[in-house]
Amino acid sequence: MSTVLVVNSGSSSFKYQLIDMDTEQMLATGLVERIGESAGHAVHTIPEDDVPSADRTDAPQTSERDLPIPDHTAGFRVMLDAFEANGPSLTRHPLRAIGHRVVHGGKRFFEPTPITNLVKINIEELAELAPLHNPANLQGIEAAQKAFPDVPHVAVFDTAFHQTLAPAAYSYAIDAALAEKHRVRKYGFHGTSHKFVSEEAAAFLGRPLADLNQIVLHLGNGASATAVSGGRSVETSMGLTPLEGLVMGTRSGDIDPAVLIHLHRRTGMSFDDIDTLLNRKSGLLGMAGANDMRDVLSRSAAGDEKATVAFDVYVHRLKGYVGNYLAQLGRVDVITFTAGVGENSAPVRAAALSGLEAFGIRLDPERNEEKSREARRISTDDSDVAVLVIPTNEELEIARQTMSVV
Ligand code: ADP
Repeated sequence: MSTVLVVNSGSSSFKYQLIDMDTEQMLATGLVERIGESAGHAVHTIPEDDVPSADRTDAPQTSERDLPIPDHTAGFRVMLDAFEANGPSLTRHPLRAIGHRVVHGGKRFFEPTPITNLVKINIEELAELAPLHNPANLQGIEAAQKAFPDVPHVAVFDTAFHQTLAPAAYSYAIDAALAEKHRVRKYGFHGTSHKFVSEEAAAFLGRPLADLNQIVLHLGNGASATAVSGGRSVETSMGLTPLEGLVMGTRSGDIDPAVLIHLHRRTGMSFDDIDTLLNRKSGLLGMAGANDMRDVLSRSAAGDEKATVAFDVYVHRLKGYVGNYLAQLGRVDVITFTAGVGENSAPVRAAALSGLEAFGIRLDPERNEEKSREARRISTDDSDVAVLVIPTNEELEIARQTMSVV
């Protein structure tokens, strides 16, 4: 069995997933959190199929521990203990490689990259563009390298898939020299998900990826839209940072940049305050007081006017991006919804694509309402554009890309 461990590290936590690359099945998943706080917490879960038959219950097997976890290195020891205690044994199934999610690869990284000291220096240097994420990703890499010194480590970048954008799509219309000097341009994010889902969509339709023009709508807590032509990202809604574009759980998405200046001048808010406002207190949370689309919908159903407006702004923006990408691509074969909201929220999907029959987009209301964890078509059989729901799997995509270079 050839296994890959996928690590997604934040500043005070990391998530991991062990994947069997022969079957592409997940063998274990876990979270180590509250690193550096007095009370750390670790959860390790193995899917029911991998639990020895005598121990089987209806639920996956989960073990939890509360203990101090001073740093990421200690966190990896906790993870190793969990594998030893609950399986699968990493001694019996040695890792083929470890794939690390890295948020920002700038212009330099456009493919999965084996991690060397130079690569780490570059990731560190790109922290200028992703101050919250890249240093945290690097902490995870360093700790994982200590825990597994003899296993190849590979970085898979969230921005990489969008490195195919043309200058017309990635350039902001500001002073060119200033933009160049400070690397101000659109990079795009969620690339691993957009790549995975666009490939799955082609497989679902049984058509060559190279022939398809696609729109992928990744609607999770963070949300982004991507236009994909022949398997290449040609336009995407996130920008220099993951703040641009769609309305999100707590992020504003697109906004007149003069709003920032106005707020600064009128209220004396600092740029750090405005950063917090736009990234953490805006979007659905800012407008409706809840960042979870389920809460927004239930409040709206109960007559909460603010929640109704928040929903309307969310889908209005989404529809605008669909229209933009229809125009940019000229012809669209398939539109795919993915991530928490995209996979589960029939009302969002219905509202975002309503009234687009003239563009050949016809949803089947019954198919749209069906609940499933499988990839499925929700458009009518006579819809010119296929509309699909496809569960994303960023961990599997990171593992696949990791295997492609080891
Ligand atoms: P992340 O961006 O954190 O990876 P996910 O892709 O898991 O997020 O999406 C999480 C979001 O999905 C939740 O905040 C919630 O708004 C939304 N969501 C999950 N289930 C549903 C549902 N049944 N209906 C509407 N929204 C849902």
